[in-house]
Amino acid sequence: MSILVVGSVALDTVETPFTRAEEMLGGAASYFTTAASLYNQVNLVAIVGSDFPGEHIDFWRSRPVNLAGLQIQEGRTFRWVARYHMDMNARDTLDTQLGVYAGFHPVIPDEYRRSSLLFLANIQPELQLEVLEQVARPGLTVLDTMELWIMTARPQLTEVIKRVDILLMSEEEVRQYTECPSIVSGVRQLLKMGLKYVVVKQGSYGALLFGADGTFFSAPTYPLEEVIDPTGAGDAFAGGFLGYLSLVEPQPDGRYAIDEIKRAVVHGNIIGSFVCEDLSIGRLRTLTMDDIAERYSALVKCSHFDPNWRSA
Ligand code: AMP
Repeated sequence: MSILVVGSVALDTVETPFTRAEEMLGGAASYFTTAASLYNQVNLVAIVGSDFPGEHIDFWRSRPVNLAGLQIQEGRTFRWVARYHMDMNARDTLDTQLGVYAGFHPVIPDEYRRSSLLFLANIQPELQLEVLEQVARPGLTVLDTMELWIMTARPQLTEVIKRVDILLMSEEEVRQYTECPSIVSGVRQLLKMGLKYVVVKQGSYGALLFGADGTFFSAPTYPLEEVIDPTGAGDAFAGGFLGYLSLVEPQPDGRYAIDEIKRAVVHGNIIGSFVCEDLSIGRLRTLTMDDIAERYSALVKCSHFDPNWRSA
């Protein structure tokens, strides 16, 4: 089951309290594609400018990534500049230059149309809507977004949310969008919009899964000793989440068993944790399924506790 992704491919300049690196491969779709291609074929739809380094394209060619939907256009690639705080769960965006994304219209190649999973990675919500217009309803549609679009394109974002199955949002974005101080109340409001699940990403603290069916699951985080660069952790989370689900057979009614959704959240957490260990997609280049399996076992161990306690 291949995965279709539409989102940003960028050149990122990132400053943390300990390091600064310029014009690295970044963008939501880049992190997602690299992560999800560890599991399955990824069909990428995005745009880059004529200044985009060919080495990144060569790298994706070495993976199960279909680049038929990657447009290369005269002009500048999307650029993003951010600075992290000492608590690397917090960052400030210093600059966003859409470059060729300003005039972009996604075109879904015919060979992508049978993708069974669709990920609408972070990009202007009106472009996400254009994608939804072009694809027959896939088995599962998952959406990610960002504060910028909550602030500047709320009506369009609301339209997209109403048309997807699963929404991934950081805790802060849930508060911004719903204007509810309580995450539980905010998520309840989101679920009323027709979503099957909402996954709340909590940075270095893990992720929460809420279902319209009443499901609640708290996925543990891996205790990372050192965070080099957390950029892309959310997109890589999505790559692990959808990558895992792409290997799972849905039930006869087309839905995924809840245990599979929970495993997918744990895969998301694991891939998100790996991304933080290096700049850009560095750690994802060398990551193997054995590395993922080892971290999966570690998470099972550290989150298990005795279910047999009873009050006297
Ligand atoms: P994350 O750390 O998962 O939130 O994702 C960060 C990535 O999103 C960076 O690599 C950026 O290039 C990309 N990005 C930042 N701002 C935007 C935006 N407004 N639209 C799309 N992608 C963005």
